[in-house]
Amino acid sequence: MANEKYLEEKLRNRVKNLGGVALKFYSPFYTGMPDRIVLMPGGKAWFVELKSDGKKPSPRQAHVLGELQSLGFKIFVVDNDEKLNNCINEIANGTN
Ligand SMILES: [Mg+2]
Repeated sequence: MANEKYLEEKLRNRVKNLGGVALKFYSPFYTGMPDRIVLMPGGKAWFVELKSDGKKPSPRQAHVLGELQSLGFKIFVVDNDEKLNNCINEIANGTN
């Protein structure tokens, strides 16, 4: 059973170990943005929305995630350890 804070801390540490940063992302005048922006050497960026196990993005979050994707940004929604591993593998491979 993975909760959001646990996954967020794990993401932060694993990205740091890869030489990047997973910054808390907060946009005061535009709600629904993902929780973290991952920045890696070479100018690569990913957005990550973290959720407690089995929880889905709200309708507003889903709308904003779609907007970012349509701009060509890579988004992960992570609600368990397996999805976190997949996310970290893609970031480590730089496949955004
Ligand atoms: Mg969240």
